[in-house]
Amino acid sequence: MKQIEVDTLVIGAGLLGSSVAMHLAKLGVKDVRVVDLDLDGSQSSSELNAGGVRATWVQPINIQMSKLSIEFFSTVAMDVGYRPCGYLWLHTEKTYASGLKARERQIEFGWPVENWTPAQLRDKVPFIDKTEDLAGALFAPRDGLLNPNLLKSYYRGQAKKNGAIFDDRIWVSKAKNSQGSWWIDCQEFPPMLSSEERSRLFSNTSGGSVPSSAVQYKAKNVVNCAGPWASQIARVLGYECPSQPVRRQVCIFDCRGVDLTPYGMIVDTSGVYFHPEATNGLAGFANPDEPPGFNFHYDGEEFFMEQVWSKLYERSTYFERLRHITGWAGLYEVSPDETGIVGEVTLGEVGRAGGVFEAHSFSGHGVMHSYSAGLVLAEKIKTGKYQTLDVSILNGDRFAKGALIHETQII
Ligand SMILES: Cc1cc2nc3c(=O)[nH]c(=O)nc-3n(C[C@H](O)[C@H](O)[C@H](O)COP(=O)(O)OP(=O)(O)OC[C@H]3O[C@@H](n4cnc5c(N)ncnc54)[C@H](O)[C@@H]3O)c2cc1C
Repeated sequence: MKQIEVDTLVIGAGLLGSSVAMHLAKLGVKDVRVVDLDLDGSQSSSELNAGGVRATWVQPINIQMSKLSIEFFSTVAMDVGYRPCGYLWLHTEKTYASGLKARERQIEFGWPVENWTPAQLRDKVPFIDKTEDLAGALFAPRDGLLNPNLLKSYYRGQAKKNGAIFDDRIWVSKAKNSQGSWWIDCQEFPPMLSSEERSRLFSNTSGGSVPSSAVQYKAKNVVNCAGPWASQIARVLGYECPSQPVRRQVCIFDCRGVDLTPYGMIVDTSGVYFHPEATNGLAGFANPDEPPGFNFHYDGEEFFMEQVWSKLYERSTYFERLRHITGWAGLYEVSPDETGIVGEVTLGEVGRAGGVFEAHSFSGHGVMHSYSAGLVLAEKIKTGKYQTLDVSILNGDRFAKGALIHETQII
């Protein structure tokens, strides 16, 4: 059996795993290894998201995490495709007061947010012409969009430049702690693993008849960055994580005469969000009735008509002619308070054994928190302390303690 000894083993090479690896390597940690069943990330959330980044949150920790990330994205804007094209939140009477309260807090943290009347909104965004139900709109010009694939390549490039290694087609299946080290048993699959075989593994069944060879990693530290599969990896490591995968769908539509390109992300009062995607539009809606599970099925035209078009048409007469082009389904990794889990695992035997860390369960906002989460967790792993930002309240023990983070500005 192949055996590889490393300092820190990161499980999952999505945006979170790649960011953690980059920061660890930059901090001078030698022998950082990242393993993933599929480095291309065909079913990873990092591959299937909407690319929005915003600091327009209610909870200070979420504002701070986003601000730290977005300020970084702006320094490498060309490399990661970041555009500060803004988030525009539309509000009815029911949500406006809480939106304004959150705005005060966002401004306190140094995040500018403009408050528009419905008349100003119609003036600035003329295609929004059904505004009778609106009390106002809040526009954050430094929120925006980026290209998640470029961001992942950037993290990985920097990680590799500083010595981190990424191993592809590795499936983590067992782990034990002995004599102060973690022994992680994995299967290494050949290059021809088909997407069906990958799907079987991902949905926690089996690799089928595909031959694989055993590989074992010995590590001082292990980091769970397995996104929607984080609860499975937690179980492999010997602790419980309360997060669940939940399907989320997005579609691409033909705008038919409405030019969305001057605008950024627009969040309608219905919960539908949309933004320009080249010359088309991209829209998503988080169905509150979606059951948890590893469901990647895209409902196609039906999703577009029932969940998106019907709501957008209520906002603009110009949207009557929108046409569905395509779309896809990915997974949100949803924690009980819809906020990310970052920190050292302190629960049960794992906590006593030490050396297990985690960054996952961002519940639909892992792109925007990937930089800051990777940075602070790498600092914690390397020095034992958070340095840039104390994120202790994001520790996974908050659920057992009943110290949930009540974020409400979720889409
Ligand atoms: C439709 C949709 C829209 C979204 N829109 C936004 C947005 O606008 N803005 C935003 O900030 N966020 C958004 N998100 C959320 C964001 O995409 C995720 O929070 C983020 O990508 C999570 O990254 P991750 O690295 O934690 O997980 P992932 O990218 O899923 O990576 C986890 C990796 O772990 C690997 N893995 C799992 N189990 C194993 C195992 N046993 N062995 C080996 N490898 C394993 C997988 O192969 C995978 O590559 C959206 C998500 C979806 C689905």
